[in-house]
Amino acid sequence: MLDTFMLGAIEAGGTKCIAAVADQDLNLIDKISVPTTDPSQTLGAIADFFSSYSLAAMGVGCFGPIDLNLSSPTYGYIESTPKLAWKGFNILGALQAQYRIPIALNTDVNVAALGELKRGAAVGEQSCIYITVGTGIGGGVVVDRQIFNGYHHPELGHIAVKRFPSDRFAGICPYHTDCLEGLASGPALAERAHQPPNQIGKDDPLWEIEAYYLAQAIVTYSLILSPAKIILGGGVMQQEHILEMVKTSVNQQLNHYIQIPDIDHYIVRPQLKNEAAIIGGFILAKDALRLG
Ligand code: ADP
Ligand code: ZN
Repeated sequence: MLDTFMLGAIEAGGTKCIAAVADQDLNLIDKISVPTTDPSQTLGAIADFFSSYSLAAMGVGCFGPIDLNLSSPTYGYIESTPKLAWKGFNILGALQAQYRIPIALNTDVNVAALGELKRGAAVGEQSCIYITVGTGIGGGVVVDRQIFNGYHHPELGHIAVKRFPSDRFAGICPYHTDCLEGLASGPALAERAHQPPNQIGKDDPLWEIEAYYLAQAIVTYSLILSPAKIILGGGVMQQEHILEMVKTSVNQQLNHYIQIPDIDHYIVRPQLKNEAAIIGGFILAKDALRLG
């Protein structure tokens, strides 16, 4: 292996893409943010940025769903997305053709979960779930210190949830009625409240509904996967007060059926803030280099 080398990371999001370079110890060297327009324009701007560096490997966290099934003919393609220019786009193939270095692709939230486990809020743990409650709701899963994907990657935001008894809101997910994202994402909150979520008063009863849905999802994840930590991030979680409401509701809904870690250590905020997916990308890149 090379004595010193540089790693690249890309976090591809619905509105912007971040590209960054680090040294082999994951120290950040340089970073840019470019708008997510169409693939050739956005990836072109990223290529201009990376052209100043000689990268040994790259790790990419991309909005999904994406096809990560190695045996699929469309492995590395973006599946369904409202951003039509990216729908069906072979992002892994495009990057591989451009850079000819080992490139590891995963979902943005899986990569963020890996970053938080190796360098952030879940350091020292074997497993964690990272959930973002923002424009959508997504979740990444790390088990045995590795990103967990099955036939498809997990889609934690689209699980069905039991309704809060008085909730008559229709939900906004075009695929499902009564899914978590449809009932509890930022845009769902905005539509329910008829105002932007950051302007909803702290005492508004809507937050109890929000906390109930998030807690219900966390109970489900706990029963199925029993992670060591659950990290809750995303724009909506900037409402400081709902974290405590979620914890209380988790305890109520779980009703002591299984043991979970102490709730204040179990459900936590991200430690890497907006950097989780980029740091996770560097980690993936370094892993790809070892294998490749
Ligand atoms: P994205 O999910 O697009 O990557 P964010 O995680 O920032 O981006 O989530 C954006 C969503 O979070 C929007 O629906 C926005 O209304 C909501 N949001 C942003 N800031 C706050 C806040 N302080 N309180 C409540 N909701 C917020
Ligand atoms: Zn859904």
